[in-house]
This record gives sequence, structure tokens and C-alpha cells, in this order.
Amino acid sequence: MMQKPKKMIVANWKMNVTSEKDAVGLFNSIKNVVSKLDYTQMICCPPHMYVNQVAKQANHKNYRVGGQDAYPEESGSRTGETSVLMMKNAGAEYVILGHSERRHLETKSDVARKVTAVLEHDMSPIICIGEETRDKNWKKTLQQQLKDVFNRVPKKNPENIIIAYEPIWAISSDKKNPATSTEYMEALEVIKKELQKIFKTATAVSKIRFLYGGSLDDKNIEDFLKNADVDGFLVGRVSHDPRILMTMFRLVEDHVHKELVEAITK
Ligand code: PEP
Repeated sequence: MMQKPKKMIVANWKMNVTSEKDAVGLFNSIKNVVSKLDYTQMICCPPHMYVNQVAKQANHKNYRVGGQDAYPEESGSRTGETSVLMMKNAGAEYVILGHSERRHLETKSDVARKVTAVLEHDMSPIICIGEETRDKNWKKTLQQQLKDVFNRVPKKNPENIIIAYEPIWAISSDKKNPATSTEYMEALEVIKKELQKIFKTATAVSKIRFLYGGSLDDKNIEDFLKNADVDGFLVGRVSHDPRILMTMFRLVEDHVHKELVEAITK
């Protein structure tokens, strides 16, 4: 039987960890538990300043490191930027791109250039897409966001591509208002259909991984595990709370284990 890839939990620490000591300490407090997981992998995305130090601790396949953004050119006169090459040299294998908290700072073609550069450096882009509200145009918004990226990106190595459906209304909302698994599945259908048109082959689309993100925590993750077809999760605010994160890992692990046992005993 072909082994399924592990479920991913991408921990987007955002700007919530503010010293190297805290970043390394937080990572080390989680990593021993994560190294023992059978079906789950953590991608830790610290602020740029700490990627290198965290990556030095990331000596196990269950926990890898990603950046929260990266500039598409390798080097040059770009004051304040961190290039994709710098991210890679610092030890990142993934880069979150097109996050809604950054979209106002960049154009659609910037996002596409970043995705291209990340893929060219044999890293994985975690491309965030999502509608602002569930109005009558929400499906078109998702379709357009996908076109804006993939019509400009070489269609190679789909196995390196990760798409995170992050409806803007659900991200970091004070009301803690995640999408439901039903809303995620509706979006996934739209996303897969559009990707099928863009990539023109179902095989390519089947290699892309899909995540959900937006106000997820240890209370609502089970809805997605039980009722959605999801390859993993992008977690923001609670991702620097080891207690909540550990519970989420445990829930994912138990769920996948139960599914495997059920498949064998059927
Ligand atoms: C995010 O920033 O990608 C995110 C999902 O944030 P939160 O979990 O805080 O909604």
C-alpha cells in the first residue's frame, strides 16, 4: 500500500516571538514530542530573524522550517528584504506566500514571482488564497487568485506546491470564527476545478497539497479531521502556545491512526 504523506501543521509564528532565545526555546519545547509522531509533520515558520537559529535545531524529518515571506531576486539593492536564496541558505525549505496580512504590500505579480523563485530553488511555496467575505463573488475571487499565480508560474513540480485556503473573514478574527469543514470543502471543490483547468491534468492536481487555515485551535480542528479532505493546517495565533499545539498534534495523530486501523480491519 502506498504510504500517504504526513499531515502538516504549519506553525506561522507571525511577529509573536520576539527574541532568538524565545524562538529557540519554543521550538525546543515542541520538538521532542513532534519527533515521535508517526503521521504528522510540523513546519515551523518563525520571523525571518530567527529562521537560521531555529533551523539549526531542526534535525528531524518531522519538523522542518519555513519563512513567512521572501523576495524573489537572489541578491541586490533591495533594502530590508530577505531573498529566497537567503531563506534557503538559512535552512528554510518552505515559504508562506500571498498571506492576507501581506497582500496589501505586494501585487499579484509579486506573489507569482515569489512562487516561481521558491520553486526554482527547490523549496515549497505555501500559497495562501481566500475570499474576503462569502458574497456572491467568492468563488470567482478564489478562481482569480489561482489564475493570478499559476498563469505566471512554470507548471512543474506540483508535488512541491501547497495551497492554503485561508478565508480572510476567518483569519485572526477576534471573534475566533473559523470556517466550517463544509465551507472548506466547498472552497476545495472550486480550487481543484480551477487548478485542473490551469494544469490540464488531474495527476498534477492530485500531487498538490491543500491546507486549511483561519482561527484553528484544539477545539475546532476535529471538525476538519472528521469531515474534510485536508492535507494539513496553517495555524497562526495559537501556534506559539505549546500546550494548544501539542493537543492539536495529538488529535491529528489519533485521527489518522484510527483511520488506518479502520481501513485495515474493514
Ligand atoms: C494565519 O495567519 O495564517 C492564520 C491562520 O492565523 P490564525 O490562526 O490566527 O487565524
